[in-house]
Amino acid sequence: MKSDLHSALKKYFGFDEFKGLQEQVIQSITKQDNTFVIMPTGGGKSLCYQLPALMQEGTAIVVSPLIALMKNQVDAIRGISNENGIAHVLNSSLNKTEIKQVKEDITNGVTKLLYVAPESLTKEENVEFLRTVKISFMAVDEAHCISEWGHDFRPEYRNLKSIIRRIGDNIPIIGLTATATPKVQEDILKNLGMNDANTFKASFNRPNLYYEIRPKTKNVDADIIRFVKQNEGKSGIIYCLSRKRVEELAQVLQVNGIKAVPYHAGLDAKKRSSHQDMFLMEDIDVVVATIAFGMGIDKPDVRFVIHHDIPKSIESYYQETGRAGRDGGEGHCLAYYAYKDIEKLEKFMSGKPVAEQEIGQALLQEVVAFAETSISRRKFILHYFGESFDNETGEGGDMDDNMRHPKEKQESKDDVKL
Ligand code: ADP
Ligand code: MG
Repeated sequence: MKSDLHSALKKYFGFDEFKGLQEQVIQSITKQDNTFVIMPTGGGKSLCYQLPALMQEGTAIVVSPLIALMKNQVDAIRGISNENGIAHVLNSSLNKTEIKQVKEDITNGVTKLLYVAPESLTKEENVEFLRTVKISFMAVDEAHCISEWGHDFRPEYRNLKSIIRRIGDNIPIIGLTATATPKVQEDILKNLGMNDANTFKASFNRPNLYYEIRPKTKNVDADIIRFVKQNEGKSGIIYCLSRKRVEELAQVLQVNGIKAVPYHAGLDAKKRSSHQDMFLMEDIDVVVATIAFGMGIDKPDVRFVIHHDIPKSIESYYQETGRAGRDGGEGHCLAYYAYKDIEKLEKFMSGKPVAEQEIGQALLQEVVAFAETSISRRKFILHYFGESFDNETGEGGDMDDNMRHPKEKQESKDDVKL
């Protein structure tokens, strides 16, 4: 006999099985326990709050930082029901009539999921209204936004707990993130006031990704061209730090007969979306991009991710390389490293508040350690995320340069015989 949860999964989403820890997570929040979910991108976090919201009485409030992502989710949920009011977004773009409709649907118990940006949730009139209706639970998606140690700190996330308290005393909270660092997790639990939460953490191992770091020399462009040509016809992303470098490198690749386009926030919206579409449709092979490219882009068969410049944290490196091999197939992650680039990143931070600089420095030191390590890169990354990994027995244990081609043991100066 399949459980009620299974039939609901089938009914609403058409899936036969839960993915990873989804079922346990849903049981936890359904019991009204505070719940904390840490799963890599693509792990299926949305369903962890969508399904219980659809099954329960009342409205679940979902806090999410990006309006575009909220709209996508609302459209998807509306697609599985005849009832348009089943999901709503509450934000400042709504007019009076629309707001009235949203409130009516919530009051009448029609709305199961209400997506709000943290800014809208702080609005007094919204808090006053939400106090008067039945709330099933509160979901805080992208919960790492609460932490300065995360890669996307949003100060408004800091007020969530007090707002939730004002909306209702006993509203259970489910926090979700793809950020696995123990510091960020601590911050989330503390700031949401849920040290009692049931925590569900999936493994962050991506066994099909091959990690490689090469020293960055003045021949880096030629080296990249060679690599891309060896991987002709495959899709790849090349990340650069600056827009200028993106433009230059894209041009060099084009001159060398590689189908490449640039992508960065300095291009107008039309160009950005056309370049993104060309990549998704495989009219071109390579996108040369700043970190502006990637959020929410779901191309399963990206075969390589190259970092022309080393990222500013292990977290960013993991997120960006994670866009390779989503389909489980080959994914080569190649990064170029020179200490000079670390100094450049340090310089970028120099105008920032001291506390921020200290955090930035600490994150950078980990990047240096990662780039210079001779141990298994996978072990390093997973350890950074608080996960132990044995590369003798663990999946993908030999999938990096250090394991495949151990560096010659460098003679230390002490060994030199005089
Ligand atoms: P995350 O927020 O963790 O990055 P999403 O919630 O966006 O992940 O889900 C990623 C993908 O996994 C989506 O395409 C979703 O439809 C799919 N998915 C989620 N749960 C299941 C499941 N139980 N079976 C099959 N696919 C699933
Ligand atoms: Mg998500």
